[in-house]
Amino acid sequence: MAEPDFSITYAGPRAEWASLTGSPLWARSIEDVVAAWCARGWQHTFGERVPTPYGLGPEVHGFTLPEGRMVLWVPSYGDIQGQEPVGHETVERVFWILWQAGVRAMLVGGNHGVCDPRGEGGVQPGDVVLPWSFRTHRHHRGLRGTEWANPWPQANLFLDDPFCPELAVGLRDLFQPWVERGAARRVWTAAELRAALVQVETITFETEFDILQHLATNETVTRLQPDRPPVVTLHGDAINPVLARFLGIHVGYYSLVCNYAAGLCPPERIHDTMTTYYREVYPEMVLAVEAEALETLELPAAETCRCETSLQRNPDEFSRAMSGWQEWSQRGD
Ligand SMILES: [Zn+2]
Repeated sequence: MAEPDFSITYAGPRAEWASLTGSPLWARSIEDVVAAWCARGWQHTFGERVPTPYGLGPEVHGFTLPEGRMVLWVPSYGDIQGQEPVGHETVERVFWILWQAGVRAMLVGGNHGVCDPRGEGGVQPGDVVLPWSFRTHRHHRGLRGTEWANPWPQANLFLDDPFCPELAVGLRDLFQPWVERGAARRVWTAAELRAALVQVETITFETEFDILQHLATNETVTRLQPDRPPVVTLHGDAINPVLARFLGIHVGYYSLVCNYAAGLCPPERIHDTMTTYYREVYPEMVLAVEAEALETLELPAAETCRCETSLQRNPDEFSRAMSGWQEWSQRGD
């Protein structure tokens, strides 16, 4: 990886609210999404790729809402054609943009395959899930070259509640009417289901063995903790919740289940249900729910939301216990 070039300054719009939503909108072009939101009375103020210290970044779209709120949308998690999807460089570029733009809350929607030991009695394609946790991934790192490169030993970052609990309540209420309209089967919250996002370690889907490992873990934990909600895994994206916490961004993450994970049904059925949900079922619901969320949800309180209280400063002696602390303390950032 090239060294970051910090002579580059942010050239995009500023906003407290953003969306990075990817696969739920893959059946709509960038132009289609912009047009759908402008039809609600939003003013499109910006739409260009933005340079970052980590290389040329993704398109950043700026909107001014009728009530005056500013919103950013970065298509498809910041993915760029021809580059590794949600790879570390992609994540660095998009999070640097969010940080420089002053984003405090963002939505991330993903389509996932489900691995639920309860089979058809559990989570199914057609369900909306507000996830409880995630599996850590090698791409969940900090921003190289900045004070947010890594938190230890200056701070403890706890990940007991990695997605914003307050935004999850708002999203639950906005998705529920779509269940009544038949666009989604049901909405699962973390109180009913411990759903963990799992981002694959390679460049395509999981093997059947990968999924069987998760099936065994999910089934065992569910059996060992009968008084707590069942554990299931959702396979697809899990956009760096660690870096969001460093940067003080509340993340409203939602999962739309499109298929059973590899090995849990015939591959042809995975292809068929994925394609149907991606193209025909979810996009209209997502465009409406995201717009309503960005128009109406309020910023969670810093003093009480776990998104901000989970990052706690350590005593200074932890830093002084490590080689190089004198040089580090004089860096000036
Ligand atoms: Zn929060």
